[in-house]
Amino acid sequence: MNATHDIENFYQGLVSHQLIIPTNVNGCYGRGAVFEDVLQRFDALVTRTAGADGAEEMTFPPILPRTLIETLGYMENFPQLAGSVHSFNGDERQAHELSERLRQGERWEDLLEPTDVMLTPAACYPVYPLFSGLLPAGGRLVTLHSWVYRHEPSIEPTRLQSFRIREYVRVGAPNVVVEWRDMWLQRGLALLQELGLPAKSDVASDPFFGRIGKMMAADQTDQRLKFEILTPVISTEKHTAVCSFNWHQDHFSSKFGIRQRNHELAHTACLGFGLERVTLALIKTHGFEPHKWPDVVRKNLWK
Ligand code: ZN
Repeated sequence: MNATHDIENFYQGLVSHQLIIPTNVNGCYGRGAVFEDVLQRFDALVTRTAGADGAEEMTFPPILPRTLIETLGYMENFPQLAGSVHSFNGDERQAHELSERLRQGERWEDLLEPTDVMLTPAACYPVYPLFSGLLPAGGRLVTLHSWVYRHEPSIEPTRLQSFRIREYVRVGAPNVVVEWRDMWLQRGLALLQELGLPAKSDVASDPFFGRIGKMMAADQTDQRLKFEILTPVISTEKHTAVCSFNWHQDHFSSKFGIRQRNHELAHTACLGFGLERVTLALIKTHGFEPHKWPDVVRKNLWK
């Protein structure tokens, strides 16, 4: 086994233990019952850990308005990751052409047109417009579960095109938001370490597109706006992010007019656990058979 990278063996082990179900598209495998059980139990552990915080629970579909993607500047910053939904709006003649092209093995996608929606690239995006206006005293705290899409097909099992995020979003006064982020950074580390993961936190940046994007990423790192919790999964050297913490300052509140009681712009921050990635980290650390995992880990998850 290669000491630093173990993509192929890990993938084959996941398949042979029926933890994942391959398809013919990279980054698009199905989840078996045992994999899904671990994932749901980790999510329940997060819920128990944060229960006393009293977050409002919201659920959105894995699509969002194309106009929201435009407002958020996603196409300027991350065009390489976006996923757009297209459908057929044509007439009888074009429908005939479509089926004819399919029969001939020709390309047919240019007969589709963009719809009003795109695939959700970040779990928290749908909530920011809802915060518009004056916030209640103390701000708001929301939790979400969402499937998110990233166009980055890969054979690496932790890099999925579609995956689930358990997210918390805090909006309020700047100091409140930063304290909340710092509290969760410690809490998230403790939660993952109690599951036997050698987790560590580090400053991080988003994969902004292009040359200007590199500068934006450097700025994000300098300002310590993004942190990640990392743990070894497919590489002992380049660890995998399983949770990310983002302090947006007034990036979203300025776009949607989100104000504190004193009418100053609020700040927002969010954190998201990558549920598949945490599950994969647990499997990599403790083995392909969760019923044989250490008692202390099982006690935490199977409560
Ligand atoms: Zn977020």
